[in-house]
Amino acid sequence: MKILVINTGSSSIKYQLFDMAKETVLATGMAERIGSDAGTLSHTVTAADGTRNTIEITENMDHARGLSRIAALLMDKKHGVINDTSDVFAVGHRVVHGGETFQDPRIIDQRILDEIEKNTPLAPLHNPANLTGIRVAGAVFPNALQVAVFDTAFHQTLPKQAYMYALPHDLYDTHRIRRYGFHGTSHSYVAGKAAKFLNTPLARLNLITLHLGNGASATAIRNGKSVDTSMGLTPLEGLVMGSRTGDMDPAIPFFLSRHLDMSLDEIDTIFNRQSGLKGLCGENDMRTVLEKAAAGDDHARLALDVYTYRIKKYIGAYTAVLGRVDALVFTGGIGENASAVRERCCRGLAGLGIVIDPVENRDKKTLPRRISPRNTSVAVLVVPTDEELEIARQTQKKVLE
Ligand code: ADP
Repeated sequence: MKILVINTGSSSIKYQLFDMAKETVLATGMAERIGSDAGTLSHTVTAADGTRNTIEITENMDHARGLSRIAALLMDKKHGVINDTSDVFAVGHRVVHGGETFQDPRIIDQRILDEIEKNTPLAPLHNPANLTGIRVAGAVFPNALQVAVFDTAFHQTLPKQAYMYALPHDLYDTHRIRRYGFHGTSHSYVAGKAAKFLNTPLARLNLITLHLGNGASATAIRNGKSVDTSMGLTPLEGLVMGSRTGDMDPAIPFFLSRHLDMSLDEIDTIFNRQSGLKGLCGENDMRTVLEKAAAGDDHARLALDVYTYRIKKYIGAYTAVLGRVDALVFTGGIGENASAVRERCCRGLAGLGIVIDPVENRDKKTLPRRISPRNTSVAVLVVPTDEELEIARQTQKKVLE
């Protein structure tokens, strides 16, 4: 069964075509700057012998044209991986906000589209783009089943005490203002991988998973289910991120508005795009932050301190939430690659049973691996995430039900 996974943004389409027989990636790529004059499409095909062939296209395209181009490349005479669009059995869409409506993937019909639309106020940038992706894919792959996989779904098991804000109850009753959490496919994927690695059923494991990419979030998982997570109504809450603040005093916007005369849009831009690592030291890429810190840059050092201190606080909080932690799992571009960040997050946590072996920590193997000594109560693991594969798996499961 061939499944195409699509992640549509307001000006981008990322995609991977899977052959689910062996979960192999047949083709992968990304269309960027959609809607501008200089749209680009980079498409890579992996042949059966593992050789890769990349095609780059630059042209003015909208989402519909971009996806048609992608379909044409997938069917290309020379490097194509399908003969016809009907070879794609299903298209799995990453949909950012499923609100309280969706606890699991759905085969998309008009009712589901309407529900996703209803959740748009909760994700005004993401959900409209995801809906565009669904509509366009329906036109380009008319015979494929379309499945929505929600970033929020894994966290729908949060208990009320974890998801309610201490706001007037009416704001929840009427407007559904509560904590939702994101990165659900990643947290759920690495939790499953960790269970396999530890050779224990997920339903018996308590885990803290740390997804540290450009966005970042922590999740507390009890007996395989998400019981708390650091992102909230939107992805702004929680850990320090590449360019987002994470947690802060909710009165800061009042100050910026009243004393600095800033508009809501300006404040939104500062909190989402100019804060986090970028705000603290001018760089949002962790590799550069680490290089600058190593070279003695004070702001980069501070950024690293604030970033890892926040993570450490969440590890402590989630240890208290769970009572017993079997494993702490690092994933995402930073979690998988930045040994210095992992070391700082775990420094001084021996009292919680969290210790890192410095040699294992610096190992660059990409497989799931343990970086803590065997005799410690918490297994500290590095588990590469694969959100696309998880979406493909969930899509397959849904269409076979
Ligand atoms: P996204 O959330 O966009 O998918 P990624 O999961 O790819 O992002 O993570 C991007 C982050 O990972 C960037 O901050 C990048 O600097 C960091 N990163 C990637 N490789 C390394 C590395 N070898 N060392 C340190 N940080 C890394």
